[in-house]
Parts: sequence; C-alpha cells; structure tokens
Amino acid sequence: MTNKQHIIDRFFSYIKIDTQSDPKSTTTPSTEKQWDLANQLVEELKQIGLEEVSIDENAYVMATLPANVAHDVPVIGFISHFDTTPDFSGTNVNPQIIENYDGKDIVLNKDKHIVLSPDYFEDLTQYKGQTLITTDGTTLLGADDKAGITEIITAMEYLIDNPDIPHGKIRICFTPDEEIGRGAHKFDVEKFGAEWAYTMDGSQIGELEYENFNAAQAVVKVEGKSVHPGYAKDKMVNSMYIAQDFINSLPRLETPEHTEGRQGFFHLTSIKGDVEETILEYIIRDHEKEHFEARKQMMQDLVSEICSQYERECISIEITDQYYNMREKVEPVMHIVDLAQKAMEEVNVKPIIKPIRGGTDGAQLSFKGLPCPNIFAGGHNFHGKYEYVPVESMQKAAEVIVKLAELTASKYEES
Ligand SMILES: [Zn+2]
Repeated sequence: MTNKQHIIDRFFSYIKIDTQSDPKSTTTPSTEKQWDLANQLVEELKQIGLEEVSIDENAYVMATLPANVAHDVPVIGFISHFDTTPDFSGTNVNPQIIENYDGKDIVLNKDKHIVLSPDYFEDLTQYKGQTLITTDGTTLLGADDKAGITEIITAMEYLIDNPDIPHGKIRICFTPDEEIGRGAHKFDVEKFGAEWAYTMDGSQIGELEYENFNAAQAVVKVEGKSVHPGYAKDKMVNSMYIAQDFINSLPRLETPEHTEGRQGFFHLTSIKGDVEETILEYIIRDHEKEHFEARKQMMQDLVSEICSQYERECISIEITDQYYNMREKVEPVMHIVDLAQKAMEEVNVKPIIKPIRGGTDGAQLSFKGLPCPNIFAGGHNFHGKYEYVPVESMQKAAEVIVKLAELTASKYEES
C-alpha cells in the first residue's frame, strides 16, 4: 500500500532528532529538545493537508482529518509519543538498513563487537527476507515511538491521497514525556474530542493490548534508636533489622524475577539505611483489582503487626496508587478492541492479544475518559542499542490504521 522508501525517509527524519526525556525535570516537555521534533511535526501535518493542526504550551501536537462520509461516525483517535527513554542515548542516531535480511547475525558495530544475533533475539528469525532498520550499536533507535508517528502520518497521508476510502473524522495526537510516565498528564482529552483512541506504541507486529497492571508505590520508613554500641544493651533499636523483618515477611516468590503472565508482584526497588533510620521503596503490581488491593492491605497489616511486636511506632508505610488496569474502562466498549482485531485480520496480520506487564499512556487516558487500547508499532528491544524495526511491520501498522478508519465508518453506516 505505501511506498517503502517513503516510510524509511519519514522515519529517518524523526530519529535523527534527539528527543530524550528527563525524569528529573519538572517542566513539560521535560527537555527543550523535544520541541524540535514537535515543531517539525506541526509543519509536516500542515503540509500533507491535515486540518486544525495545533501545538499547545506543553508541546502536545494535535490535528484532524475531516470525515468524507455524510452519515454520523464516532470520532476516533491515534496517538504516539515523540520522546525517547532517558535510559539510553538517543544522540546522533545512525541507522543501518539491512535489506532482504538473511536470518543471520547482524554486526551493529565492528569496532565494539556489538552483534544483533538471532541466537539471543529469537524474534529476528520471523523477519527473514524483510528490510530491517537497526542502530550502529552506540545509541537506541527511537522506533519507540517514532515508528508510531511514522505510521500514523503515513496512514493519514494515504487517506488524503485516496479519498474513495470512506472514513469518519479522525484526530491524531503526538505527546511528549511518555517514557517518564507523564505522556497522559497534560493531555487535553476534551480538546482531542475523540470517542475512543488507540496508542500506536506496542512492540511486535500483531500486538493488541487492552489490559495492563494496576500499579502503586510504597515507601516504608523504619525508625530505630542509635546509641553508642558499647552501652547499647536494652537501649539500641537497629532500624535495619526491623526492615529486614518486613522484607522477609513478604512472599519471596511474588517478585518480578519469579512471575509472568497475569501474576502480580511486590518489587523492592531500593533500601537505604543506618541504625537510626531505614527507608524501603517498593512497587506493587497486579492485573486483578482485588489482588492489587489485597497486596496493599498485606503491607499495611504487616506494618501494624511489626509495630505491636516492638511495642512502639517504629515502622510506617505510605502507599500511592500510580495507574490502573484499563480493562475496566475498555471492557464496557469492547467493540473498539474487536474493530482493531478485525482491521488486523483484514490486512493479514495475526492479532496477538495479551496483558501488558506494565502501563501505557492509554491506561491513564482510559481513566481520563478516553478508552485507549494499544496497537503494535513494530519495533523490538526498546530502550537500548539492540532496538530494531522491520519496515514491513511499519507498513502493516499504517494499513491497520487505514483499515480501522474504514471499518469504523462502515460499522456506523446503517445505525
Ligand atoms: Zn513507547
């Protein structure tokens, strides 16, 4: 459907711009350099002929493709993010094109002996014969989520160039700071004005997700009593031992390294302590709301238990919810997932539906009133030097967007 070289050129024009976000910053966008790509996108959207192209004071870029049918069709949206992760450099990305991939090792960087190998990354083998875009081994690629942007704009351009394909009004949005968890924070759902939307931010071809973790963080503070160790008998309270009791009382196998699929966990992310005070930081994750609440309660109960054991208020906990499973908001409008599934099938992509062991911006948007499942953008090995994306997967993602627009319009034709 879409010209391969055109997609590559478009994708390259985005990844050459460094847009790394910064969790320590308090501004939006978190880094000045994100404006560079945001402003470029505004110009491009105007140039291909989209309407109501806007950029707000936080760098959220929005645009409209007006309906070309007379009957009422719900407004749908497509969303991706233009920042890249703070975990790995996105400066001077130097992409390599591997045409007609032979299924063998790809040398990313000869001098540094960095090799992208199917022995380690088995997914590579399914792309034999395709065109892969990789890094040069020194930076990330930025397919997360500049592949998503490429696909959305390519699909909009295709719909403009092919006015015989019926579609309702379509809204698109590109956001800053998704990688630091803030992509949805300043997203103006009302201004966007869509009934539902899709983030184009999943990984391999076929991915379709509408379930994610419920998430909270917990900070446990243990207070001890520091006394000269030579005179400490019956006086010293070592906060680190109490903290150890707490840690050991949680189920040892319910941790990230022992769980998968729909299993939840407690994850101890940091310990900082001395005799006087110890701080433990946890994250709590579970797909099931009930189990999620039970996990939080278990931690609270444990704190009370330890307090009574030591006969003093030596330990306290503060739990903060971070985000919730979007399933709760998507299930009542399950047709939006069914449509995406059908769109994939119609362009010969096999849907892979599975719960995400993490969160997406769509989860937060779903709770802000915009139900928002996640569709594949096509890349692999996000957030590091082994990141790559098959061009064919980007083409298919663009086709899925076009098909979704078409199916939505035809679904509402009689009703
Ligand atoms: Zn992403």
